[in-house]
Amino acid sequence: MLENLTQRLSRVVKTIKGEARLTEANTQDMLREVRMALLEADVALPVVRDFIARVKEQALGTEVADSLNPGQALVGVVHKELTGLMGGSDGEFASELSLATQPPAVILMAGLQGAGKTTTTGKLAKWLSEGGHTAKGKKSGKKKTLVVSADVYRPAAIDQLKTVAAQVGVDFFPSDGSQKPEDIARAALDHAKRHYYDILIVDTAGRLGIDEDMMREIRALYDLLNPIETLFVVDAMQGQDAVNVAKAFGDALPLTGVVLTKLDGDARGGAALSVRHVTGKPLKFVGVSEKLDGLEPFHPERMAQRVLG
Ligand code: GDP
Repeated sequence: MLENLTQRLSRVVKTIKGEARLTEANTQDMLREVRMALLEADVALPVVRDFIARVKEQALGTEVADSLNPGQALVGVVHKELTGLMGGSDGEFASELSLATQPPAVILMAGLQGAGKTTTTGKLAKWLSEGGHTAKGKKSGKKKTLVVSADVYRPAAIDQLKTVAAQVGVDFFPSDGSQKPEDIARAALDHAKRHYYDILIVDTAGRLGIDEDMMREIRALYDLLNPIETLFVVDAMQGQDAVNVAKAFGDALPLTGVVLTKLDGDARGGAALSVRHVTGKPLKFVGVSEKLDGLEPFHPERMAQRVLG
């Protein structure tokens, strides 16, 4: 079992009990522990550096309440900072999708192969067609939803989406590997308009790594579809690499949000902080199971807790 941050800091703090303020001297060892904890949680190194600098700035001069020791005071600062960076406390943070537009509202899914795009497309389609509740607990109203796959490179990908759509009971717009992704997108959009769909979710081709062709292709789809939401799907297990992938997608596309998948695995979730840091975009949902009901709104506080251990 990993030691949690409070335990780690209280070990360091034994030597500096009874100090009234957090200072450069008494936080140095503790900040080193915070740094280690974040690295163990797979937060990317440059992100850790920035974060520590911010915490330091916030912490220095902070009065240590009588009931606390300096370690507890610092954990408070770290927790608050981390929650804030990930989008604020649950109460004030809106992870909702913004779908207020002339229907169909298009959601474009972006991410590497294996990140969980197709699965998340199915989960989101289920969520929206059933009127999933938001982070604030409100129901959003049932949406007539259509899904389509523009992944013409892996025929299995189109079949996979078809299966997923059938499982969640939403309409699937057929496509096949001989078509151009843009033609598929255009036809699906036209169909969605003519049949009064509220939502069109477009699943796209991923690659195993960052690839110029992939970025050009998804950018062309973006320009054609003018999506109201462009969601970057990233695997929580990607750890340190998540930062480069997020940067590449964030540079190529005006992302509106992030979905962090596979949080049911043992990843500590450091990728959440890294991705938020490099894209500046809110995490909107987390994937918590292979099953199609395994999608939850993102809760910054819970994620902060998880990252800190
Ligand atoms: P894509 O290539 O981006 O479309 O990725 P897929 O949707 O095919 O997902 C790749 C693998 O990850 C599949 O085996 C999914 O079942 C699995 N997967 C996706 N999301 C989650 C999740 O939140 N939790 C778990 N445990 N597995 C997931």
